[in-house]
Amino acid sequence: MDTTITITAYGPKAKKAVSAAFAEMRRVADLMNANDPASEVAYINQNAGIKPVKVSPETFELLKLSLHYSQLSVGAFDVTVRPLVELWGIGKKDNYVPSKEEIQQALKLVDYRKLVLNDQEQSVFLPVKGMGIDLGGAAKGYAADRARAVLQEYGVNSALVDAGGNIWTVGVRPDGEKWRIGIRHPRPEMGSKILAVLPAQDLTLVTSGDYERYFVKDDVRYHHIFDPRTGWPAQGVISATIVGTNGAEADILSTTVFVLGPKKGLALAAESGITKAIVVTPDLQVFTAGRDLPEMEFVNGEKEGKNQ
Ligand code: ADP
Ligand code: MG
Repeated sequence: MDTTITITAYGPKAKKAVSAAFAEMRRVADLMNANDPASEVAYINQNAGIKPVKVSPETFELLKLSLHYSQLSVGAFDVTVRPLVELWGIGKKDNYVPSKEEIQQALKLVDYRKLVLNDQEQSVFLPVKGMGIDLGGAAKGYAADRARAVLQEYGVNSALVDAGGNIWTVGVRPDGEKWRIGIRHPRPEMGSKILAVLPAQDLTLVTSGDYERYFVKDDVRYHHIFDPRTGWPAQGVISATIVGTNGAEADILSTTVFVLGPKKGLALAAESGITKAIVVTPDLQVFTAGRDLPEMEFVNGEKEGKNQ
């Protein structure tokens, strides 16, 4: 999944549980990584314009959830964003800014409304050659959910899963206190590495930021979260965090809110019943939605603009 994953666990079966949780995350990555030609997602993409592909129940369910949020956000999140991801190749190609024509060509192939999910057959069909699924905005959250489930199957009730921006807190720390999770400040060069600290128990935190994968060319920052309506890296948000109890959903929503912006994004997140959403805009304003979390501390005393 192109990130470093750390799992901390306590209890008599912790060691076995951690190995099993890593194996489970590897299994999910092998199913869903579009860059791996042997994955189910790659197989769907190879068969675009050719035939529907039957997939495992979990890939099917995650695609259903991704399509749901593609619809709800009217394509700000778009699970068929693959052609744009390949064109820009952020982190892969060498600081490449595509031409307007190339972007227009890629955008013709990005359209969640054309994705056909057949419940009866558990099959997936992309009707146009060149279309592609990309679960990069969802699979890490799902994998973290699975890791948490495996840890619990082993009886672990004190653990922390940290998968590069996707966190799961299982129970409390061995000292009985809640886990203290720092949300990264999107611009640490401004002084603070941490934006806020949230004491958490049985919660997942997912952050999408423009600082994860990016390059700077002529003073413009190009990053890996695209606005499928323009074909360019999304503007207007530099960090979006979702706190909740479903990692797959939180992952999808972090990307969705990033693209939709503070106003529409936070409204959509709040309607989805998440615990909390925190957005930082380029002028370093912080906006939140969701429940009051009195224990959450903003490190620099940032002012929380509430729901705009
Ligand atoms: P990270 O991968 O850093 O955790 P995200 O969860 O926000 O960040 O996911 C970003 C990934 O999602 C991109 O690398 C790409 O694979 C995919 N993606 C980018 N833009 C969109 C979009 N508008 N809709 C759906 N998926 C997207
Ligand atoms: Mg995401």
